[in-house]
Amino acid sequence: MDAAHMGADLERVLVTEAQIQVRLGELAADVWRDYEGKDLLLVGVLKGAVMVMSDLMRALPGTAPMDWMAISSYGSGTKSSGVVRILKDLDTDITDRHVLIVEDIVDSGLTLSWIRSNLESRSAASVEILTLLRKPGAAKVEVDVKYVGFDIPNEFVVGYGLDYAEKFRNLRDVGTLAPHVYS
Ligand code: IMP
Ligand code: MG
Repeated sequence: MDAAHMGADLERVLVTEAQIQVRLGELAADVWRDYEGKDLLLVGVLKGAVMVMSDLMRALPGTAPMDWMAISSYGSGTKSSGVVRILKDLDTDITDRHVLIVEDIVDSGLTLSWIRSNLESRSAASVEILTLLRKPGAAKVEVDVKYVGFDIPNEFVVGYGLDYAEKFRNLRDVGTLAPHVYS
């Protein structure tokens, strides 16, 4: 879905599809250099990270496996609860492996800090985080994110995997919603 298909539901585009592709290319090059000679496993967080994972992986100049976790966080609202529950665990044993968590967005950081400590407790060799988007104003928890695509303002965004009530994940760009969508 293009921004034009959103009609009056879209307020404005914050990051375009083209900007995302350029940035993911840069991050893929960084990741490949940093993990040279290491057993890298990409771990995506369902469902928001689906687009980031697929484009990041394809931008890598070599191959790396992926695995997925699903956790509960937002429900259908727009505020993080801080309550995290594993809905789908990894298929892979991550003992002694170098794990890179691939995320769509860091908002409060509550979800990611929980996932990171959960994965660290499984004796991974290292656990780092890559996120496409970060909202710096909203950090309730200090979470050390190694790779950041874009810092964005503290607004609720949709598109490129990010949803509002499971809608708009298929928007190609990242943008904000018009106020009438929430009411
Ligand atoms: P956090 O725990 O507040 O950092 O956010 C956890 C999750 O909430 C993210 O991984 C996203 O799935 C979702 N989320 C946070 N901010 C937004 C947003 O602006 N739009 C859509 N989903 C969001
Ligand atoms: Mg997410």
